[in-house]
Amino acid sequence: TLIFGIETSCDDTGCAIINEEGNIIAESLKSQNLVHLRNGGIIPDVAQDLHRKYIEPTVTETLLKANLLMKDISAIAVTVKPGLPLSLAVGMKYAKHLARVNAKPIIPIHHMEAHALTVRMEHNVNFPYLVLLISGGHCLLAVVQNINKFLLLGKSIDMAPGELFDKIARRMKLRNVPELSTMCGGQAVETAALRATNPEMFNLPIPLVQVKDCNFSFNGLKTSVLYHLRKKEKEHKVVADALIPEISNLCCAALIATTKHLVHRTQRAMQFCSINNLIPENNKRLVVSGGVACNNYIFNALKAASVDYGYNVYRPSMKLCTDNGIMIAWNGLEKWRKNLDIMTNFNTLDLEATSQLGESLIDQVA
Ligand code: ATP
Ligand code: FE
Repeated sequence: TLIFGIETSCDDTGCAIINEEGNIIAESLKSQNLVHLRNGGIIPDVAQDLHRKYIEPTVTETLLKANLLMKDISAIAVTVKPGLPLSLAVGMKYAKHLARVNAKPIIPIHHMEAHALTVRMEHNVNFPYLVLLISGGHCLLAVVQNINKFLLLGKSIDMAPGELFDKIARRMKLRNVPELSTMCGGQAVETAALRATNPEMFNLPIPLVQVKDCNFSFNGLKTSVLYHLRKKEKEHKVVADALIPEISNLCCAALIATTKHLVHRTQRAMQFCSINNLIPENNKRLVVSGGVACNNYIFNALKAASVDYGYNVYRPSMKLCTDNGIMIAWNGLEKWRKNLDIMTNFNTLDLEATSQLGESLIDQVA
């Protein structure tokens, strides 16, 4: 068995081939990050053009690295949702083309399900487990009951934490700081925060502390950060393109408030799982994934906070937390092994109808 994975849901063109045992045979990732940093955000048309430009070379490069031909591949796994429709379309169209020409089946993949399952490639985490997905477009807590069975416990009612960091970084013009210039927003905020001398300088509210469910909200935090930034700019004429203490402290305060919120919600989910017997008492695991899971401060805080609840905490290695083709191939392999969603007549079928996360039962902590 050899599964070819294709990911184009946002701003990374990613491909990978994995074998029957889940070993990576080859991978290739073309990031558009620098272009979007220059534009001050992702412009869907630009992202689509870049995917169109990169998709064929990325596929070819992956096959070359593996010294394989498309005819050697068992199935093509491709992200079908969620993401930017224009970006997704490029990967899906190319996957269909490859599948048609080479007579291969297609395995449609839900991007967030792939984020939730990748950990199983590296760690022996069996079902069911609790997952916290924190990324550029999503923030959600779910119980992963099986490869295709997710119980959604809560999600963001507004923006995602990665989006919050990206917006803060953009407003602070962190990319004008030479050492941060090539980093994504989250990484830039994390690096700036490490320089903080006095994060208590800013008092940021922790979202939803009184609300007893597992949902998230980051809009209020964004507003507070921008308010403090404006105030400092007025006071000191702070130009936020050097790592002056105010900027580092504000980044740190934002990171701490975000972390506290993530920890509170995750602990609520743990309580809910306990009361409802969703996770076995003798084998409690929390998996953290998505781009924001790369953040060591957030991950370590979650780990420490989980001890009291008897949970072991896992995350995929960094390069598997952010978008990549490997996680798509892995999810494809998991489905292949169970004979799930393997489509040979994909021309007539709606690929997008297959994935479930986010539409499954929404059960909220009382
Ligand atoms: P989604 O998975 O929701 O569709 P996406 O695919 O764009 O969104 P990912 O690639 O999973 O998101 O993650 C990218 C996000 O992760 C960006 O918002 C980025 O700022 C954030 N991120 C990356 N590294 C870090 C870090 N060290 N700390 C905090 N955030 C980070
Ligand atoms: Fe993602």
